Amino acid sequence: MSERDIFYREILENLADGVYFVDRQRKITFWNKGAERISGYAKDEVVGYSCADNILMHVDGSGKVLCLDGCPLAATMQDGKMREAEVFLHHANGHRVPVAVRATPIYGEDGEIIGAVELFSDQSSRATLMEQMQEMKKAALLDGLTQVGNRKYMDMKLESIFNEWARHQLPFGVLFIDIDHFKLVNDTYGHANGDRALKMVGDTLANNIRFYDFLARWGGEEFIVLLQGVDEKRLSEIAEKLRTLIAKSEWESDEGVAINVTVSIGCTLVRQGDNPESIIARADQLLYQSKQTGRNKSSIG
Ligand code: GH3
Ligand code: MG
Ligand code: MG
Repeated sequence: MSERDIFYREILENLADGVYFVDRQRKITFWNKGAERISGYAKDEVVGYSCADNILMHVDGSGKVLCLDGCPLAATMQDGKMREAEVFLHHANGHRVPVAVRATPIYGEDGEIIGAVELFSDQSSRATLMEQMQEMKKAALLDGLTQVGNRKYMDMKLESIFNEWARHQLPFGVLFIDIDHFKLVNDTYGHANGDRALKMVGDTLANNIRFYDFLARWGGEEFIVLLQGVDEKRLSEIAEKLRTLIAKSEWESDEGVAINVTVSIGCTLVRQGDNPESIIARADQLLYQSKQTGRNKSSIG
């Protein structure tokens, strides 16, 4: 192997995602550490075997086994097209792990397909979010527009997280997030674009919190995030990360105008003497401070 090959191999080895290569007979020729971690199968247990031997036994959401009929790798080697799918792999311990897989063909020197590579990433936390969403839908706790929790959902979570704190002193923090000059967005670009801004902010928040944090649309253009097990420094870092990600998001309206919005945030940790209402009131006050001192910023207190 050349030095360059070693360099790339080293990168592949250490990706957090699982990576494996198969040859045309679907025999596994490479299996990285990420694949070992996600699947529980060590390299020696799989390299040299055919993935059609049903080691991983991918199934789809309906339980259909994809190895023999519906294998994304086999199809990609047939037609040379990249494929993405959400499947469930069989972990060495027996349980199913949700993964997003991407199959890409590998070409030989003469341009013929000599194999394929599959990249797979663990979707467990997302699956948890999806489950939470189903739960919310059932109990009318989901906000229809943004598909995050609604105020009723947040009231419930706030009460339970507060009780956890009262009983076990498990600290938690609150982010009160409000879109800046949102009335102006509606007035300038129309209500439909205002709605898109709300969705965009909701998506950015949902995609960038940890799966054990809670998010809801609190009112019009206000969102609340509850974060368990954080200290003041971490809370402030997370608020700044979310604020920056929103400020760096942009989309094009139907009229072809690039639109982006910013948010102001109030951040606070639960403290002695608090009740659920007092925490929210304090976060709201800090949000007001962010608005007063220029917007597109977070204030902690
Ligand atoms: P500030 O920076 O001080 O927060 O200013 P702002 O304009 O964001 O605040 P204000 O409270 O004056 O305006 C909130 C606006 O949010 C007014 C209302 O029309 C709009 N709004 C509330 N709910 C929705 C919604 O579901 N869709 C859309 N498009 N707009 C909404
Ligand atoms: Mg507001
Ligand atoms: Mg606002």
